[in-house]
This record gives sequence, C-alpha cells and structure tokens, in this order.
Amino acid sequence: MNLYDKCKNFTEAKKIQKLGFYPYFRVISSEQDTEVIVNGKKTLMLGSNSYLGLTNHPKVKEASINAIKKYGTGCAGSRFLNGTLDIHIELEEKLAELVSKDSALAYSTGFQANLGVLATIVVRGEYLITDKLDHASIIDGCRLSYGKMLRFNHNDMNDLERVLKNVKDTPKLIIIDGVFSMEGDIAKLPEICKLAEKYNAQVMSDDAHALGVIGKNGSGTSDHFGLTDKVDIIMGTFSKSLASIGGFIAGNELLMHYLKHFSRPLIFSASLPPASAASVIAAIEIMKSEPERIEKLWKNTRKMQKGFKEMGYDIGTSETPIIPLHVGDMMTAFKMWKMLADEGIFINPVIPPAVPPNDCLIRTSFMSTHTDKQLDFALDKFEKIGKKLGVI
Ligand code: PMP
Repeated sequence: MNLYDKCKNFTEAKKIQKLGFYPYFRVISSEQDTEVIVNGKKTLMLGSNSYLGLTNHPKVKEASINAIKKYGTGCAGSRFLNGTLDIHIELEEKLAELVSKDSALAYSTGFQANLGVLATIVVRGEYLITDKLDHASIIDGCRLSYGKMLRFNHNDMNDLERVLKNVKDTPKLIIIDGVFSMEGDIAKLPEICKLAEKYNAQVMSDDAHALGVIGKNGSGTSDHFGLTDKVDIIMGTFSKSLASIGGFIAGNELLMHYLKHFSRPLIFSASLPPASAASVIAAIEIMKSEPERIEKLWKNTRKMQKGFKEMGYDIGTSETPIIPLHVGDMMTAFKMWKMLADEGIFINPVIPPAVPPNDCLIRTSFMSTHTDKQLDFALDKFEKIGKKLGVI
C-alpha cells in the first residue's frame, strides 16, 4: 500500500478527458465579462458569479490600480500582527454599513471566513445546524469546529424543527446559504428566524450569492426579508458581485472582538491584498450609485427563467440569477456541456457527489451586463440542443 494508490486509482476524470467531455479547469485568456476567450475563441459566459459585471468596471479597476500604487501588491503578514492597513478598516466600516451590522471583519477568502467563524464561535458541547445543501466551506467550517454538526433537509422547516427539538437547551447556530449556490433558491429566513426564537438558537446567513442580488442596494438576504435584527451573523464573499477575492463576517462588536483574538484563519494567514480591498470599496459604492445594474440583473433573470420554462426545461426551485437546468444523468450533462461549448457558450455542469446520480445540472448564471442579443442567442441554442438530447 502506498499513499499514491488513491491517485492512481482515480481514473474517472482521465476517462472523461479522453472522451473530450472534460469541462473543468478551462483556461480563459481574457477578463471576466459577458464574453470571454476560451481556446482563442469568443465564448458567451453563462457561468460567472460576477452578477453585476463589476470585475471590469473602470472605477473598480482604477481603485485597484491606485491602491497598488499607494500600498504595493501585498501585506506580507496577517491582520493580527503586521498586515492591517487603513484601507482594511475603511472596507470593514463600509461592509458593516452595507449589511446594517455594528461591525465587520475581512478575511482573505470567503472560504476562510466560514472556517474562521464556525470553528471559533461553536465549541465542544454546542451545535452547528446546517441545511443539507449548504456550501462546502460551511461543511468544512463545521468539521473544523469541536461542536457537533446536525443537518436538516434542504429548506424543510419541519425537518429543521425536528433537529432543534432534540437540542433544546444547548447553545446552537443555524447556518444557511441566503441564496443557494447551485439551486438558486432563497433560504426561508422568516420561518428559520421564528424557529430560532422558539428554540433559542442563533442564525447565520452565508450571503455569497445574495450580495449584489437581493436586498436594498444588494445588501443581501436579511435585508430582503427585513430580518437584519434577527440574523446574528452575516457572511459574505468578495469573489462574486463584489468583483475581487476575499470574504467577511458581520455581526455585533463582541463577536468581532472575539474572532480577532481566536479565529485562526484570520490570525495565521496573510491579510487581504490592498488592491482587493480597494476594489470592494469601489464595488460597494457602485452598487449604491448605479441601482439600475441590479434592476437589469433581475430583468435578465426573469427573461431567462421564462425562456427556459417555456421551452420545457425543469429549473427546479430557482428564483435568482442562478438558474440550474435539471438534465438527468452525468453523460447527458457532459454532452450538453460539449454541445454548448461547441456553439460558443460557457456553462458549468454539476455532477455527483454534488447532486444525486440522475439529477445532474447545467448551472447557468446571469449578469446585469448581458445584452438581450446575447440572451436570445443562448435561448436559441439551448432549445436546439435540449431537443437533440431529449432533455426538453
Ligand atoms: N459560500 C458560498 C455559498 C459560496 O458559493 C462560496 C464560493 N463558491 C464561498 C462561500 C466561498 O467564497 P470564496 O470564493 O470567497 O472563497
């Protein structure tokens, strides 16, 4: 037996590569826009999380360049010791204001933010209660915590209550994705908050896909439902609408002070590069000053939801710019990916273990900067290819 046996025995991806159906690690040689260059070919991007199209907004780019000129390219240390810049503090104030919380703390990625808060705030003898479709970074945060993870069926409030009843008198945190990253549906926050009150639990919302999409000025799920006071912890990432990389936790000052002294992914990892901090500050300003971007995002979303449904596609429970198409088994998903790629369309296939074997997804996501012409082109191709494959 050898450590590398598992690597040798992992042959599935190689088989798919040989067949020419391998859809991962595609190399893009242009900026993240509605059209990208893949293998030298212009490709319509229907797989980006840059919901507001801000990664190439001139003001975001300019802010980033100016930050590099002023601070250089990196911080060479963690927030705790030698890597806190004034621009980090400014960013955290803007983030707290955006989500209407007292205080915020920036991490170097959204993944780290989830690891950093969950492993720190829930300790031995306490519980982490997660939706079965929560993001991998939440699952890994729960694994890192000494608390015990309990799961409930996706958006199933009876199941959540069943779990809560069993841990009535113990400290516990319910963690949900505000907008679920694959299904594109929204957490049932009003019911979740009611149950949390009834069973004395705290609530955390991962707003990675909600920021820039729902709530006033794109401020996320809690604002969308008018429940900011009932949601204790809001997590967000900068890698989607906010046009950069990084993440944050927002909540009360007590929590932030505690995280600053105990959250290992914050203390023992280098801080966010200045260019990223500046990009996010600029992106937040644009979200406020150009509300038409969010309106256009929703116009595009409604157009595509309607178009897909009229053709006969099953879009599941989607209610946001993330629109998955349920296409059946893995080979159908890969074939559809390939046929779309050949037509110059970029999408993301989702296969087991992320989904059950016969319920693979073609995950599409839309941006406010997509034009009607681009979307009509896509609908036409989806109709032709869906019919050819017998999906619709
Ligand atoms: N939470 C959710 C719901 C996500 O979709 C992601 C990224 N895919 C993350 C957290 C992690 O964010 P980041 O990319 O900033 O590490």
